[in-house]
Amino acid sequence: MAVRNLCLVFGDQLCRDLSSLCDFDRQKDLVWMAEVAQEATHVWCHKSRLVLFFSAMRHFRQELETAGLPVRYHELSADPGVDEGQDFASVLQRTIRELEPGRIIMTQPGDYRVQQAIKDTVRACKVELEIRPDAHFLCSPDQFAQWADGRKALVMEDFYRWMRKKHKILLDPVGKPVGGAWNFDKENRQSFGKSGPSELSQLRPYAPDRLTQAVIDLVNQRFATHPGSTESFCYPVTRSQALEALREFVSERLAGFGDFQDASWTDQSFLYHSRLSAVLNLHLLDPRELISAALEAYDRDRAPLNSVEGFVRQVLGWREFVRGVYWRYMPEYIERNALSCDDVDVPDFFWTGDTQMRCVSDSMRTVKTHAYAHHIQRLMILGLYAQLRGVHPRRFHDWHMAMYADAIDWVSLPNTLGMSQFGDGGVVGTKPYCASGNYIHKMSNYCRNCRFDYKQASGEAACPFTTLYWDFLDRHREQFKSNRRMVFQIKNLERKSAEDLEAIGRRKQEIVALEKAGLASQ
Ligand code: SF4
Repeated sequence: MAVRNLCLVFGDQLCRDLSSLCDFDRQKDLVWMAEVAQEATHVWCHKSRLVLFFSAMRHFRQELETAGLPVRYHELSADPGVDEGQDFASVLQRTIRELEPGRIIMTQPGDYRVQQAIKDTVRACKVELEIRPDAHFLCSPDQFAQWADGRKALVMEDFYRWMRKKHKILLDPVGKPVGGAWNFDKENRQSFGKSGPSELSQLRPYAPDRLTQAVIDLVNQRFATHPGSTESFCYPVTRSQALEALREFVSERLAGFGDFQDASWTDQSFLYHSRLSAVLNLHLLDPRELISAALEAYDRDRAPLNSVEGFVRQVLGWREFVRGVYWRYMPEYIERNALSCDDVDVPDFFWTGDTQMRCVSDSMRTVKTHAYAHHIQRLMILGLYAQLRGVHPRRFHDWHMAMYADAIDWVSLPNTLGMSQFGDGGVVGTKPYCASGNYIHKMSNYCRNCRFDYKQASGEAACPFTTLYWDFLDRHREQFKSNRRMVFQIKNLERKSAEDLEAIGRRKQEIVALEKAGLASQ
């Protein structure tokens, strides 16, 4: 039977109301899904990230088939010798040649590279391609352009307020922000003090079922040398599990999320964070569901305003904002390198976690175990180290794509190259997020048992963050002195004597030389 429409569903588009399926006819159309080796290897993907994607895809295929939708699914084999295609282009081309569909329909993918590969393939096969908008998001690229066009700078806070008004979220009856302010960020910077976080229930693990176990076996066999492990795999992989994880977050953690969203603590991977970003980015949850659940908790006095507003800001504001930036500036955005970094890669301990820096080793523990780190570990520890050290922003993005379960190109690139590394020169953030070890000391207990001293910038005991912070400011002094938000930091730099800066420069060279050994001196 001739296929009318071949409807593509990518691994990060696992929802039943996907636009590519909205007018699906079971008699005439066919769903197409593919696990391909290139998506697992174009960056050196963490094993848990691979398990999450492949398992969630296989569960979604099962759900579609149970509902009576015919699916053509390309499954990866544990043996690379029997693969019928390495990438989307070759697998899709084979399907098109075999079935000769009248039209290909896809929902806009989350990766510019994939979109181009599909366009090129379909053009080469001389078939009609229809690209539909992704209705999962609350702001389309066109709507973002309407907001952004004509603005001198794209300020997230302005975008967020625009979205709050547009979607009538957390507004009082006359359109003013509930609580008298748009943003309660100042209330969201508490540390845990000396005693640490109060007892938190463990996040519910989702034990692998038969399908997930088959994927774990496949990944451990075929991608054995990839980083991370599958031993602690605990992600939700179906929509019903994802909904359960959302309910758990709202009832157990949302109330504390606001106060402590910037704090870290040794051996605490999730604290008050939701762990929902991975399933949200796979589309197993809809952002509207997250926002509604948080608003309902506020209405029922189960979570304070600073927590609910902070959570809504992440989902309605930041997440939509970075997607808008991605599609506005791609493909040139990925080439940006505003701080003129050399081609420096992330240090080895970004893969192994073997370092004497307590903050980095604990952050890497959770990355290796869960393909996850909460946003302060990402931004103000791992991202900060890469930025201060001068890692090339594209290399940092590639590493982030490899190691995090929730990393999809549209969300990873503006967050890493832009926000974390300031590689876009100020599109997503007006200043670099740079800080010394003092910030990490204030917001965590890491420095207590570290062999380095967060207060020292030079000498054998100097905290690498503190050394690299001053070195970073010194290297970019000219570039930053005209940035109004950097005035305070540059003024402090100018108080350093030439001898101080020389000693800092020497220590920086030692740090670079010791990186391979995890900064352990001989
Ligand atoms: Fe990290 Fe420096 Fe603190 Fe050690 S002293 S934990 S390296 S910030």
